[in-house]
Amino acid sequence: MGNSTTGQFVTGQREREREDDRRGITGRRSLAGGKPAGTRRRGEPPPAGNEQAKTLRRILELNSRTEYLRRYLGNDFEISDHLDSSHLQSFFSSRVPLSSHRDIEPFIRRIADGEPSAGLLTGEKISMLSLSSGTTDGRQKLIPFTRFSSQATLEIFRLAAAFRSRVFPIRPKGKILEFIYSSKRYETNGGRIGTATTHWFASEEFKLRQSATQSFSCSPPEVIAAGDYRQSTYCHLLLGFLFSDEVEFVASTFAYSLVQAFSTLEQVWTDLCHDIRTGTLSSARVSSVKVRRAVLSLMARPDPDRAEKMKRICEELVNRDWAGAVRFLWPNAKYLYSIMTGSMIPYVEKLRHYAGGLPLVCADYGSTESWIGVNLAPLDPPEHTIFTVIPTFAYFEFIPLTKARYGACEEDDFEEGEAVPLDMVIVGQQYEVVLTTFTGLYRYRLGDMVEVSGFYKQTPQLKFICRRNLILTINIDKTTENDLQIVVEKALKLLQSHQAKAELVDFTSHAEAAGQPGHYVIYWEIKGSVSDQMLRDCCTEMDLGFADQGYVASRKTSSIGALELRIVGGGTFKKVMEYYIGNGAALSQFKTPRCTKNPSMLGILDFCTVKRFWSVAYC
Ligand code: AMP
Repeated sequence: MGNSTTGQFVTGQREREREDDRRGITGRRSLAGGKPAGTRRRGEPPPAGNEQAKTLRRILELNSRTEYLRRYLGNDFEISDHLDSSHLQSFFSSRVPLSSHRDIEPFIRRIADGEPSAGLLTGEKISMLSLSSGTTDGRQKLIPFTRFSSQATLEIFRLAAAFRSRVFPIRPKGKILEFIYSSKRYETNGGRIGTATTHWFASEEFKLRQSATQSFSCSPPEVIAAGDYRQSTYCHLLLGFLFSDEVEFVASTFAYSLVQAFSTLEQVWTDLCHDIRTGTLSSARVSSVKVRRAVLSLMARPDPDRAEKMKRICEELVNRDWAGAVRFLWPNAKYLYSIMTGSMIPYVEKLRHYAGGLPLVCADYGSTESWIGVNLAPLDPPEHTIFTVIPTFAYFEFIPLTKARYGACEEDDFEEGEAVPLDMVIVGQQYEVVLTTFTGLYRYRLGDMVEVSGFYKQTPQLKFICRRNLILTINIDKTTENDLQIVVEKALKLLQSHQAKAELVDFTSHAEAAGQPGHYVIYWEIKGSVSDQMLRDCCTEMDLGFADQGYVASRKTSSIGALELRIVGGGTFKKVMEYYIGNGAALSQFKTPRCTKNPSMLGILDFCTVKRFWSVAYC
C-alpha cells in the first residue's frame, strides 16, 4: 500500500505542478499575511487536502469495524461513496476524540498477551510492536508496526534520495557508510517486539532500499544486528576504511550516532589500521562469531597499502584534532546524512568539525508512530531544514498552540485551539501534530511541536520545534526543551567570545524540587579546560537567558532558587546512553533526554558530578 499511495502523491504533485503552471498559480501562501492558501479557486479543495481526505477514507475503509473505532463511530458505520470528503473529515473529528498513548495501551497489552489482534485497532492482524526510544519523554511506548510502516519508510527514503541526488549526484552502486544499529527483538504471545528501526532493518523493504536508491551499505546485516553497539561501531568503521574510496555519503538515523562513531574512531584507528594491514579482525574488539565471520568474508586479504594510507591520514588528523576527518578518510563522500534537527542541533557544530566543509544534509521527520515529512531541500543547513508533510502516510491534524499568559495552562505554556486539518494550517503558527494512521492510531497526539513555515505547492512545510512534554517546571514556570537549548547556546557563545578551549559534549537538565526553594539544575559534560570563573559566568548567563515570564518572576521573588550548573566527568553521557541501550533502546534511535526525572539517569549524573556552580543572577 505504501508504495502505491506515496507514488501517487509524488506523481500527483508533478501533475498538479503542471496544472498550476498552466493556470499561473504559484501555490505558495504569503508568509507575511499568514493566511490560509489564497491561491486556490473558491470552493476548490487544495490537492494535499484531497489526498488527506482519500487517506482518511482508506484508513476508515480498512479499520472502521475495529473495536476501538466502533466505540465512537458506532456499529452501523459504513463509508458511503457518496459521502463528501469534507463531511467525512468533520464527521470523523467530531466523533473520534483526541487520544494519547494511554488510550491505546489496553489494546496493545491485549495484543502483546496474544489475543487475536485483527479487529482490535486495525482490520488486519498486528504481528509486530515497536518500542519507541523512550528517550524523549522518559517512557518507552509500544506502538503497532505493520507492513505499511516499512513500506512507508522505503517510500520516504526513495523520495528523499531522489531529491538529494539532484543536488548531490552519487555514483550508481556506491556505498553508504551507515552507522546503524538494531537492538534485540523479543517474542511475546502476540508477536515480535523491537524498536521501529530494528523492525525496519530486518524488513524486506530495507533490502529493497539499497537497489531503489542505488546505494549500498558498507556493512552486512550481521554487523547492523550485532546487538552490541561497540562491536557494530568498530565493524562499521573497519568496513568504512576498507571501502574508503567507494563511500558516497556517511549516514546514521540520528546525528548522535555519527558523533559517537567519530569519537570512537579517535580511539580505535590504530587497531583498524592493524586489522586492515594483517587482514584480521581484533578479537578484543569483536567477539561475536557471526559478526566476525561476516566481516572477515569481506576482508579478502591483508592490505598493507591501504592500511598505510589510512594510518598516514589518521596521524595527520590527530594533529588537526580530527577536523575534516570525513573529507580526508572518505575522499569521494559528498555529504553527511542524518536527523540533525530538534534535539540533535547541539551536535551539529561537532559534525561540522568532522565534516570539514562537506554539507550536512538533514534526514526526514518521522517517529515510531508514523513518518511525517520529507526534506525536499537537501542544500538547506540543519538550522533551516523544513519538512514537507506527506499526505498519503497518515491523516494529519494540527492543534494550534498559542503562548499563554504564564500559569494559564496545566501542561505547558500554550493554550490549545481546536485541531484543524492539514489544509487549514496557517504559516507562522505553531501546532502539535495529531496522527490517524493505517497502523491503528486515531487522532493520536504525537507530542511534537512544529511551526508551519510555508508550502510546497499546497502541502504544508514544517519546522520541527521541540517535544511538548519535555519541560522543566518548579512553580508557575514552564520551560521547554527549546527554551533550554536557547540558553545553553547563549552560554556557549559566551565561552566562544572568551576563546575558551573547550567544547560541550552533551547536556541535560532537571527541576530539583526536593529542597526549598526548588531550582533548575543543568548538567554539562565538557571536553577541554575552562576556568571556574568562566563556568560560573556561564551559569549566570543561562539563568538570565530563560525568558519564560513565570521563571523570571519566580526568580525575582526567590520562589525559584539560583540555577545550578553541575559539571560531570568525561564519558558520563556515554554511560547515560549505555543505561538506555541496556534497557532496550536502540542506538539508532537514541536521543539524550534534555530534561529528566529518571532516577537512574539522575543517579549516574550525580555520581559523575565533579564541580558545581550557582548563578549570581537576580541577587
Ligand atoms: P522515537 O521515540 O524514537 O520514535 O522518536 C521520534 C521522535 O524523534 C519524534 O517524535 C521527534 O520528536 C523526534 N524526531 C524525529 N525526526 C526528527 C527530525 N527530523 N527532526 C527533529 N526531531 C525529530
